[in-house]
Amino acid sequence: MKPGLSLLHQLDSGGRTSFLSTPPARKFRYNPDYSTMLPSPPAQLLSYFVLTLALLAAPLLHATTLGRIDVTCTVCSAKSEQTVIGSTNAFGAPDLDLRPPEMQRSTMTFWVQECPSCGYCADDLSQPRPEAAAVVKSTAYQAQLKNPQFPPQANRFLCSMLVADKAGLREPAIRSAQYAAWTCDDANKPAEAKLARAAALERLRKLKSAGKSIYDQKGTDAVLLADLARRSGDFVAAVASAREGLALAPAAIVAAVLELEIRLAEQKDAQCHTLAELPDPAPAKAE
Ligand SMILES: [Zn+2]
Repeated sequence: MKPGLSLLHQLDSGGRTSFLSTPPARKFRYNPDYSTMLPSPPAQLLSYFVLTLALLAAPLLHATTLGRIDVTCTVCSAKSEQTVIGSTNAFGAPDLDLRPPEMQRSTMTFWVQECPSCGYCADDLSQPRPEAAAVVKSTAYQAQLKNPQFPPQANRFLCSMLVADKAGLREPAIRSAQYAAWTCDDANKPAEAKLARAAALERLRKLKSAGKSIYDQKGTDAVLLADLARRSGDFVAAVASAREGLALAPAAIVAAVLELEIRLAEQKDAQCHTLAELPDPAPAKAE
């Protein structure tokens, strides 16, 4: 059974996932941002209220919707059936690196597609990508795809990263490495998670030295860099990155995340933490 299908069945057996009779026209994409993840205190209160209601109503809700679509691989033209997310939800606080809470957290398996014919991995196999054919045929790609050290889903994300690398798509490459790390976290494979985070870190540092960033919000790339370093056990780099982020005078909420990263790194804590652990924000001052 395909890994994707086993998760699907798991979700189905919980009665919380439904299949769409009409498959979604557009693929769901995960585009996190701290500004949208960190609501103002009144909005937070409202979200707690909604969360309580949702938890009470959860057994009655079909919270994640999935659809099956036929996709034509841009590399080998083979057709395959893929599962795509129609809708999902996220209740609760994301991790410090913005990994979403449930139920979105459990939809990760559908964030990457694999062509069963040639092994091409991408968030959308049908999207034209001229660089892909040569990468997919390469020894490095095929070795990664079948690397028994990593969970198959992590291999798919890392293969997708290799294609993004070749296409010069730095942000998708960093994201793919990050998703591979999350997959390894879930599979309880810390050494492999560290390798995936090292791949993300290397690419994020290159992006930074090119004067570019993933996030528009000031200081948020530093949060990601600090979290990747801290989760890998490189506490010195985590503190250095968080301090660099603070020096940019970011928004109060981003500064609070950076300060939390410093505190955790100083305690040599490499565990996963969430935004729920942030101290309550100070009341806003009148200008
Ligand atoms: Zn293919």
